[in-house]
Amino acid sequence: MASQTRFIVQESLDALLEDTVFLPELKGNARKQAFTSLGAILSTPNHLHKSFLRIALENGSVVRIPALRVQHNNALGPYKGGIRFHESVNEDEVINLASLMTLKTALHDVPFGGGKGGIIIDPRSYSEKELHLICKKYVQYFSDIIGPDKDIPAPDMGSGEREMDWMMAEYKSIHPGKPYKGSFTGKSVINGGSLGRREATGKGVYFSFRYLMHDFIQQQRNLLKDSNNKFAKTALNYDSNTLKIAVQGFGNVGSVAALEAYQCQQLSNKVVAVSDRNVTLFHEDGLDIPALIKFVSLNSGELPTTELQLREAGLKGEVLNRDEVLYLDVDVLILAALEDQIHDANKEKLKARIIVEGANAPVTSEADEFLSNKGVIIIPDILANAGGVIVSYLEWLQGRETQFYTEDQVFKLLLEKMKTTLDTILPVFFGDPYPLRQNCYIHSVMKLSTVLYRQGKLY
Ligand code: GLU
Repeated sequence: MASQTRFIVQESLDALLEDTVFLPELKGNARKQAFTSLGAILSTPNHLHKSFLRIALENGSVVRIPALRVQHNNALGPYKGGIRFHESVNEDEVINLASLMTLKTALHDVPFGGGKGGIIIDPRSYSEKELHLICKKYVQYFSDIIGPDKDIPAPDMGSGEREMDWMMAEYKSIHPGKPYKGSFTGKSVINGGSLGRREATGKGVYFSFRYLMHDFIQQQRNLLKDSNNKFAKTALNYDSNTLKIAVQGFGNVGSVAALEAYQCQQLSNKVVAVSDRNVTLFHEDGLDIPALIKFVSLNSGELPTTELQLREAGLKGEVLNRDEVLYLDVDVLILAALEDQIHDANKEKLKARIIVEGANAPVTSEADEFLSNKGVIIIPDILANAGGVIVSYLEWLQGRETQFYTEDQVFKLLLEKMKTTLDTILPVFFGDPYPLRQNCYIHSVMKLSTVLYRQGKLY
């Protein structure tokens, strides 16, 4: 578990230990003992499963690919979380991501626990046939520990519908006659996936920002205008109609969040910059996001890398270095790429005063503290990027109940769920001096602590 997550969980527990209104029946030594148990439970995964997937490649050689499944906590329901396919995946990272899933599902009242998987490969170095074999082997090795009521994987970085379809099919053939639809989420619609799952995270990311900066602030403006709270000051300082937005990452999350901002009828914000693994594209008057999405779909997922390519695609803008997206003079920065993007060495170069974590853990603890002290509002991962797991839950329900939601129903349920969470968290956030991340953690930790206590797990 990364130190930041562990530290904030422990801080939340310390605050709750002192708060005698919380679990008042726990007193004295029993209270101390229970909170010590909570610290241990929440900072350690329940299970860490590791294996090597032995794969015969098409060129005849055999490789051993390290694979992991971390089951962090299942107090609220079956373990849930994606499988990351990336060459830099490591055990600590997967444990941290699994613990973030536990906090994320608790925050949004999704009846799942937290888990995460990892396969240490660069998926672009393998043929489709080899990737299929890797997916099948992953399910074979972990077939006893996953399942619709045990642990439900989903896509994450480097994986998508195709991989989930393959994995569900393998699960089905290993467990004939057993329910299998809910064993994986993020599948293609034809294979039991939900409409709207692909767009869910990006939509939720944009919604969390829009709701905070516009809907909530509009309603509360009069109440907040005399507040001394530094975050309220930051939010009130902006006219939410004229915000300039930059988006790091143009995959499923970044491109959808950028499109939502571009299409939002309520606000006329401009997406002035987007980036991917090669470049940043910038245009002061706002980029044509639909045209860029079209370009990317025709060019192996990559943004134009030269101004000539931009012009040929009928687009206006400049091509900048990849990391420039982080340092532009914008109001809002949506981080939808990898973790640890804002860190000690670059934290002072940021100009945006509102940061939205579309990716998991994109801001390190040092940078987080520095920016929060300056009043920068960081909408944390567990709040902003929960759209994926929320719609995963709807997919899982649809698989169980053989009912099917339309895309409109999915998006309505998704945004209602996120709104409920935001309405619970934001009044507290603007009323106390703590950053939003801390508020979210406290809420999740309270829920998990209460459930664990009632389940008799704290002795
Ligand atoms: N990988 C996504 C996340 O980090 C979605 C997980 C899921 O749908 O289970 O939230």
